[in-house]
Amino acid sequence: MKKRILTGDRPTGRLHLGHYVGSLLNRVKLQDEYETYVLIADVQALTDNFDNPEKVRENVLQVAMDNLAVGVDPKKSNIYIQSMIPEVADLTVYYSNLVTIARLQRNPTVKTEISQKKALFGEDGGSVTYGFLGYPISQAADITAFNADLVPVGEDQLPLIEQCREIVRKFNSLYGEVLKEPEALVGEVARLKGLDGNTKMGKSLGNAIYIGDSEEETIKKINNAVTDPNKIKKDDPAEPNVCMVAYYHSIFSKNEYEDICKECRAGVRGCVNCKRQLADNINNELSGIREKRKYYENHVDEVKEILKQGTANARIITKETLKNVKKAMKIDYFE
Ligand code: ATP
Ligand code: MG
Repeated sequence: MKKRILTGDRPTGRLHLGHYVGSLLNRVKLQDEYETYVLIADVQALTDNFDNPEKVRENVLQVAMDNLAVGVDPKKSNIYIQSMIPEVADLTVYYSNLVTIARLQRNPTVKTEISQKKALFGEDGGSVTYGFLGYPISQAADITAFNADLVPVGEDQLPLIEQCREIVRKFNSLYGEVLKEPEALVGEVARLKGLDGNTKMGKSLGNAIYIGDSEEETIKKINNAVTDPNKIKKDDPAEPNVCMVAYYHSIFSKNEYEDICKECRAGVRGCVNCKRQLADNINNELSGIREKRKYYENHVDEVKEILKQGTANARIITKETLKNVKKAMKIDYFE
């Protein structure tokens, strides 16, 4: 039997280069080897976007198209919508008893996300609902509903996987060995930084190059990226370690990176050309993906059908897990 992967994204916006290097490439690479379930986490997106359901709904399709565009193959992987799997909501309720409020408040991912919200939207934006504080529990339900072996994620998600493992251990020790402890798999770039120098490129942070951006949008964003503030004139020497353009070159222009740094430090590399070279490399890498995305944008019904089928396949597994969980908890009354 193949091992299982559970992974996914929140439909809070289209997917960006951080997703691409952090998680999507692993998904595509591993989909032959693993039985793969790709979650579109609309319930989780609503925890901090409950006042904007249109945004979440629209982005369910966008995130599905991004996944399909990069090569998640619906013949091999199941892309499904979280809210259409009621078993996950059931599991979340049962797991809620196993997690203290203090533990949720200490979760580093939750803490960082709350402080980012405060920085973006002021103190009010940082006020925390019961639903948001509890999202690590529903994420544990997502993962364990499939008894997933492996969870490809970006580095920011590691504390959530750890919390999921804790829930599994607690559940199994109380009710018997039913759930599997998942392993996280971090991508080649654990945490891609933002164009603005933020430690993370994020949909909700306004510092991203999206997979579906046009070539022109990509060029424009790179032109506005943070560079060495001490470099004023074209021939001034500069320090690549403080320049976001150099940082992206290290990921998207690997072969040229050493020369780029030498030339930058020697003051023989102007920023205009350097940015253009980066934009060209990223645009080249994404050109096939963007073409495929255009196809799906023009065939939305096909995307909806893929989601419907993926969700139906997913439920076969989650129903089975819920049955086992309820039996272990002695609440399997009429089956
Ligand atoms: P939001 O700001 O709404 O939380 P996000 O950009 O963090 O959006 P998610 O949908 O929360 O995106 O994350 C989906 C997956 O992509 C997660 O595994 C996450 O760790 C990974 N990921 C997101 N941003 C990055 C990044 N900058 N570098 C590496 N991985 C990332
Ligand atoms: Mg996130």
